[in-house]
Amino acid sequence: MIERTLAILKPDCVRKNLTGQVIAQIEKAGFKILGIKKIRLTKDTAGAFYAVHKGRAFYEGLVEFISSGPCVPIALEKENAIADFRALIGATDPAEAAPGTVRKDFADNKGENIVHGSDSAENGKLEVGFFFSEKELIELI
Ligand code: UDP
Ligand code: MG
Repeated sequence: MIERTLAILKPDCVRKNLTGQVIAQIEKAGFKILGIKKIRLTKDTAGAFYAVHKGRAFYEGLVEFISSGPCVPIALEKENAIADFRALIGATDPAEAAPGTVRKDFADNKGENIVHGSDSAENGKLEVGFFFSEKELIELI
C-alpha cells in the first residue's frame, strides 16, 4: 500500500549540518518528497504535535528540545512508507538502533535522535496534515 509518513529533521540534525546527508539517504531509500519546509516550532505547537506523549517523564524535555531551534518537516510518500522509514532511521534510542541506520550513525542519545518518523499509516496522514495543507502537496504532484 502507498503510504505517507512525516519525517522531521530535528534541531540536532539542523545544528550538526546533517540535513542534506539525511535527505540524501531518504531519497536513496526510494521515498518521494511531497513537501519540505524549515520552521521553528513554538513550545505550544511542539506540545500539540507530541500531545500523545503528554504526562510521560520525557514530555517536557522533548517539547523543549524540538522547539530549541529550526527543524525540517518533510512529507514523504512510498509503498510501505511507515515501516520502511522506521527501518531507515532505526530504534528510538541510538544505542539500540541497528548498524547503518540514521539514528545509529548520527544521534547522541534517546532524546536528541536526529529524526522523527510516523508510527502508523493513520498517524502518517494526520502528521503530514499537521505541517502541510493538502493543496500545498497536491500542487506539486
Ligand atoms: N523520547 C525521549 N525519551 C524516551 C522516549 C522518547 O526523549 O524515553 C523522545 C525522543 O526524541 C523520541 C520522541 O520522544 O523520538 C517520541 O518518542 P517515541 O516513543 O514516539 O519514539 P519514536 O517514534 O520517535 O521512535
Ligand atoms: Mg513515535
